[in-house]
Amino acid sequence: MRVLVTGGAGFLGSHLCDRLLADGHEVIALDNLFTGSKRNIAHLLDRHDFEFVRHDLVNPILLEVDWIFNLACPASPIHYQYNPVKTVKTSVMGALNMLGMAKRVNARILQASTSEVYGDPDQHPQPESYWGNVNPIGVRSCYDEGKRVAETLMMDYHRQNHVDIRIVRIFNTFGPRMAIGDGRVISNFVVQALKGEKLTVYGDGNQTRCFCYVDDLIEGVVSLMQYEGEGAEEPVNVGSHDERSMNDIVDCLGQILGRKLDIERRPLPENDPVRRRPDTTRAKERLGWLPRVDLLDGLGRTVEYFRGVLADEKQV
Ligand code: NAD
Ligand code: UDP
Repeated sequence: MRVLVTGGAGFLGSHLCDRLLADGHEVIALDNLFTGSKRNIAHLLDRHDFEFVRHDLVNPILLEVDWIFNLACPASPIHYQYNPVKTVKTSVMGALNMLGMAKRVNARILQASTSEVYGDPDQHPQPESYWGNVNPIGVRSCYDEGKRVAETLMMDYHRQNHVDIRIVRIFNTFGPRMAIGDGRVISNFVVQALKGEKLTVYGDGNQTRCFCYVDDLIEGVVSLMQYEGEGAEEPVNVGSHDERSMNDIVDCLGQILGRKLDIERRPLPENDPVRRRPDTTRAKERLGWLPRVDLLDGLGRTVEYFRGVLADEKQV
């Protein structure tokens, strides 16, 4: 199969390219390198079955492919809030451009959506049937609402034009190749701990998230793309069930590094969700998917990755 991965030089996109190549597909990674990096795909650039296209997805493009994984979009709050108008454009025009292409070349398309479509949820855990609690005018809405419109476009192209769609709602994911300065909690804490700095805990640190290791996430995404059963077009949550507070994460890292880590409290960002945990019954029933890598194991692998990155930059 010929497969396009938009956002292919990013954290998740580059792991997805690795996996698709290992499965024997030909892969085109498209990226504008806003938050992604050629370093994430440097090991693939010489392969005959891999191609990198530098392109901004807000502009149309036509490629002959069988599958499209649409991942292009900055994913961390500091990056998606840097140029919020561009974030909305990337989600909305990117989805439109990719859906137009899917329709034209008869490709199957998967949209990377997000747990953020549930906003600050008042239902816990969150099943796919929950419509969410999103502030449409808040500082996170460029991302949340952009993704919600991308889902709307997917469903409307499906109903109106019979485009073969998949929608995955990705919950917090971590692992090697997260960008060092992207501000997400795991990369921040690991890098701060390795540099001997205080860990920046926002608010009282009791807010929760469930952190999924990247290999598990990619397995779920690929399984959904392959799924051809009942309700294939419906959104599917993929994420860990292991709900942890940010204070727990500090303790886990201390356990891995074998020392007590100092923290520094910072104000809680606006509209920061209090709790988040996916209901993954659908992923389990339809895809047979369950997360397998436990948090401490995944964190350990992530610490090793960042140790290597910092050593290359001679920062530790
Ligand atoms: P990332 O920032 O590492 O990857 C996004 C990639 O998209 C980057 O390589 C970036 O350069 C590229 N990109 C951004 N705007 C673009 C544009 N206009 N044109 C072309 N390329 C563009 O983030 P990630 O964590 O790998 O996220 C990938 C996808 O998964 C995103 O759509 C994100 O919303 C979604 N997601 C991720 C998480 C997570 O925890 N990592 C959670 C929920 C959803
Ligand atoms: N957070 C934190 N310290 C940091 C970065 C983030 O305490 O250095 C908190 C943040 O306020 C949020 C949680 O960690 O409550 C997860 O943040 P992240 O940006 O990783 O993901 P998201 O908020 O998008 O789920």
